[in-house]
Amino acid sequence: TKFESLGLDKPLLDAISDLGFETPSEVQEKAIPILLEQETDLVALAQTGTGKTAAFGFPMIQKIQSESRTTQGLILSPTRELCLQITNELKLYSKYVKGLSTVAIYGGASISDQARQIKRGAQIIVATPGRMKDMIGRKMVDISKIDYCVLDEADEMLNMGFFEDIKDILSNTPKEKLTWLFSATMPKEVSVIAKKFMHKPQEITI
Ligand code: AMP
Repeated sequence: TKFESLGLDKPLLDAISDLGFETPSEVQEKAIPILLEQETDLVALAQTGTGKTAAFGFPMIQKIQSESRTTQGLILSPTRELCLQITNELKLYSKYVKGLSTVAIYGGASISDQARQIKRGAQIIVATPGRMKDMIGRKMVDISKIDYCVLDEADEMLNMGFFEDIKDILSNTPKEKLTWLFSATMPKEVSVIAKKFMHKPQEITI
């Protein structure tokens, strides 16, 4: 399979070509057509290093309205490192999408700097749960109009004790959004989240 056959538009294909990605990885091949073509929730069992950032990132970048400055996509990830890594990848993937801005939100750095970046307009926010909850509480960020929410490394986030924060964050998002959950394992806590916050998710396993 080639990237051209997955339904991706030219700006993404050009970025993929610049990055030197030749063929889609398994999770990309399975997830991208589903997320591009169907308005569906998704549970994907996939380890790190399998290319899952692009598996949710390409469809999100393609579906977002970059002409609007409204925050439309939220990605929650367990650690600052992962949050920055995802942000960097998304910036590379969206280099030919004019006006698209991705901002990283994580603890241990200046909250006012991050609030300023959000205020300039970020269609995509990549956040760790603790700092995200904090910024929602301080009204520094508005996720009430998002269309897409990714829970990345859901098992890790729950292991780290973020269940209550995630619940709180999701209660500030619209009911009609789509939720895409990625996890290396499927312990009971992750299925609880899927049952509680997702609507008839499709499932893929890598
Ligand atoms: P991830 O699992 O999303 O953290 O991706 C792991 C690494 O693989 C990252 O450095 C990506 O840039 C790279 N990558 C993702 N998809 C592909 C692909 N289809 N071909 C080659 N490298 C890729």
